[in-house]
Amino acid sequence: MIFSQIFDNINIGLVVLDREMKVYKWNRWMEMNSGISTEDITDKSIFDFFPNIKTENFIRSCNTVFTFGNFSFFSQKLHGNLFPFRLTGFFDSSFEYMQQTCTMGPLRDEKNEIKYLYIYVQDVTAVAIYEKKLIEMNILDDLTGIYNRRYLETKIQDEFRRHKRYGRPFSIIMFDIDYFKNVNDQHGHLCGDYILKEVSSKISSLARNPDSLFRFGGEEFCCLLPETNLESAMTVAERFRVAIMEQEHYFDGKTIKVSISLGVVEMTKDMETPDVLLNKVDVALYQAKNKGRNSTVAL
Ligand code: GH3
Ligand code: MG
Ligand code: MG
Repeated sequence: MIFSQIFDNINIGLVVLDREMKVYKWNRWMEMNSGISTEDITDKSIFDFFPNIKTENFIRSCNTVFTFGNFSFFSQKLHGNLFPFRLTGFFDSSFEYMQQTCTMGPLRDEKNEIKYLYIYVQDVTAVAIYEKKLIEMNILDDLTGIYNRRYLETKIQDEFRRHKRYGRPFSIIMFDIDYFKNVNDQHGHLCGDYILKEVSSKISSLARNPDSLFRFGGEEFCCLLPETNLESAMTVAERFRVAIMEQEHYFDGKTIKVSISLGVVEMTKDMETPDVLLNKVDVALYQAKNKGRNSTVAL
């Protein structure tokens, strides 16, 4: 009773589905945005109301939640939305439908059995509009939605000046997807593009707030880490490497895995320009490739 008040007043969508994909719970936010009442949808298949979500990806995600208790993430960058709610009276007409980031996870009972899964739906339309503006301003890369190389050059100059003035620690990670040419050759360029988006979205979700991620070139990325020394940056880099090694990409009915090689460098007093830092991290990355790939080298 007490919790149901939170359930209905919270400013995100909450849906609970049973194993047959029937709706068990549907909060007020979902009612308001879909125009479908809790009464109408309860005990009915979610697919009767939203046939668009009956995709291979969605069904696979539900299965892994029920079978393994895993979590699934539907990023706005990849999917736009899960529930197509038309936007009305929004101040900007960039999008016809609400942009959403959704997470799916298991609900366990007292016996630790998973009888239900939940989905929470966040409205990220305002952020998506802002990102679109940044793309127009030529700060973001339009394929992956992360910062582009041009912006990296600006940011690295800023950090360089800050380091010179205040002497605060600052590190950089550069990484490159291993054997990416093979991915394109074996699965096609579209699949390559899809993996680039998935890898950058995974790393973005792992990076801390002040750390920023940039697409440096084709399948090469940089992460700037203010207030971070070499040792901590190495820990972050290893976290990135392991996450990508474990990430599975589903494309066209196939499951594909990739790995990355990483170079890590900390800014030092003797570096006269940002290029010295970039060259050094490039050397570290090259050494990681030479070590046999899927590895990290700190210099
Ligand atoms: P290594 O382990 O040495 O990094 O091998 P690699 O095959 O990844 O390296 P290489 O530099 O030879 O190839 C990079 C490939 O990345 C070639 C290019 O087709 C692909 N690539 C670069 N940008 C994009 C892109 O935007 N989309 C797709 N699909 N592929 C891209
Ligand atoms: Mg590569
Ligand atoms: Mg490369």
